Amino acid sequence: MHRPALSVVVPCYNEEATLPLLHARVSAAARAAVGDDHEIVLVNDGSRDGSWAAMQALSAADRRVVAINLSRNHGHQLALTAGLDLCSGQQILVIDADLQDPPELLADMRAAMAREGADVVYAVRRKRDGETWFKKATAALFYRVLDRVTDTPIPLDTGDFRLMTRRALDALLALPEQARFIRGMVAWVGFRQIPFAYDRAERHAGETNYPLGKMVRLALDAVTGFSTAPLRWASHLSVVLAACSLLLLFYIAWGYFSGERVQGWTSTMLVVVVLSSIQMFVLGMIGEYLGRLYIEAKRRPLYLVADIAGQVHGRATLGFQAEGTRIPDALVASEERV
Ligand code: UDP
Ligand code: MG
Repeated sequence: MHRPALSVVVPCYNEEATLPLLHARVSAAARAAVGDDHEIVLVNDGSRDGSWAAMQALSAADRRVVAINLSRNHGHQLALTAGLDLCSGQQILVIDADLQDPPELLADMRAAMAREGADVVYAVRRKRDGETWFKKATAALFYRVLDRVTDTPIPLDTGDFRLMTRRALDALLALPEQARFIRGMVAWVGFRQIPFAYDRAERHAGETNYPLGKMVRLALDAVTGFSTAPLRWASHLSVVLAACSLLLLFYIAWGYFSGERVQGWTSTMLVVVVLSSIQMFVLGMIGEYLGRLYIEAKRRPLYLVADIAGQVHGRATLGFQAEGTRIPDALVASEERV
């Protein structure tokens, strides 16, 4: 199998407006770094705009572009998994489609990788332009909470923008789980990983595809994927509550003997409500793990490929790819002419 020197993997959801500029900038950066020996893997994650048509056009015009069309929207982390699974480069750059991560940093990231003999160069956001204070604050809080509960040290303020060697990627692809928090999984893989500070730009066009709901889901995947600490919270809480009930018992006994009988509907109700909400929370946490266990137990493929345009060397190992998903180049070219 031919391994190009570099693969650039880009998950895309409704990025039609950015794709031409993305291609121009990524392709220039890749060319400056490794010359023609590279591939650009664009993954269409069930976009509802014209992203797929735009990708096919790019692939028809530039044979280094591989366009992968997933059967539906699988979500950012699985779309990225598809691209990583099907790419074949010796070095792999992961980048967002919206140009918030400047592709021009590739040269410096490669230099840092070579200088330090690293397997992963992960970009750390120094500053984030054009994002709401709410997003920045929740992201900052999230990374700090995550750091406390997990056993794997996951770098703070890091997205999926990173450069990896083939052996680091192969190690990552050996992790079969459905609930993927890729930046954490890369950290788990180990080898030599070094940070690379950069300023995050604004989105080139469109709006974030990570509304609050999706962020909460990602956060839960991160916590449950890297820690079982929440499962132990119940037993820790029970110790605290047992101590409280002992104190309460003394208080009631004291009241009984001193003639001042303890009474009070309000306090009883308060205790009942507080305790049942704690119980529900703990049950919910157990449910999060149980639900994930159920989903993992089904062992479904992580993603489904509908079509591929361009020259792909790898084969889907984590996802499902039927025979005949490749669109012959001639067909793409003729469609473009119409
Ligand atoms: N994305 C995707 N599938 C989705 C949502 C997002 O492939 O369901 C892609 C999106 O096109 C972009 C990257 O994931 O390339 C990051 O998304 P976004 O920029 O919306 O997130 P943010 O930068 O706001 O966290
Ligand atoms: Mg973005």
